[in-house]
Amino acid sequence: MVEIKTDTSIEAMRAAGRVVAQALAAAREAAAVGVSLRELDRAARAVLDGAGAGSPFLGYRPRWAPVPFPAVLCVSVNDAVVHGIPDGRRLRHGDLVSIDCGAVLAGWVGDAAVTFTVGRAEPADATLIRTAEDALAAGMAAAVVGNRVGDIAHAVGRVCRAAGYGIPDGHGGHGVGRSMHEDPGVPNEGRPGRGMVLRHGMVLAIEPMVIASGRDDTYTASDGWTVRTADGSRAAHAEHTVAITDDGPRILTAP
Ligand code: MG
Ligand code: MG
Repeated sequence: MVEIKTDTSIEAMRAAGRVVAQALAAAREAAAVGVSLRELDRAARAVLDGAGAGSPFLGYRPRWAPVPFPAVLCVSVNDAVVHGIPDGRRLRHGDLVSIDCGAVLAGWVGDAAVTFTVGRAEPADATLIRTAEDALAAGMAAAVVGNRVGDIAHAVGRVCRAAGYGIPDGHGGHGVGRSMHEDPGVPNEGRPGRGMVLRHGMVLAIEPMVIASGRDDTYTASDGWTVRTADGSRAAHAEHTVAITDDGPRILTAP
């Protein structure tokens, strides 16, 4: 069931989204060669704590997960697509790092992700990151009243495929509100004109993921969480929480 948010609720979600943006900025600021992934998590956690916000990631345990998620950030490096656990691994020159963060403030959730490189960046990684961001922008531009979920999916997928990248099977965006994952699902590829009609007050997390090799298949690593590309090629991820309004899409996780 899709929950339509009131304008007051959207303002409350904006407050949660702002905390997410600040936590992502702090984690990104902390990221440097030699810094451990756990230190990025600590930087984000300090922002959540300072804002009086909780984490929808910490302790999260969907049916398929063998253990609760142990951190406030997902940190996914190089061939990791999403859901990486921030551990003691230290960042190296040229690492491609995706960080995904959520916050719960006054009962409302925000969810966003960014990808960046550490140290010397490969031009191919810069293109991969830019494509994920362009796909997110295209998806958000399609998130208007009267369009359908399929229009967002189509807009996202077209940008990724035009660049020759793979789109991981079985992963995509979602409704967001008092829970991190609500209806509807927002696939990263689809047919225009299909799916649920978008209405004022719907809030969606739109989150393109791209795989450099052009292949779509992934697997879950032995930690039970980290999703990696099947062929070891690199992946990027970009996400915002977006409210659909009569005045157009509003990015609730913007800085
Ligand atoms: Mg996310
Ligand atoms: Mg999400």
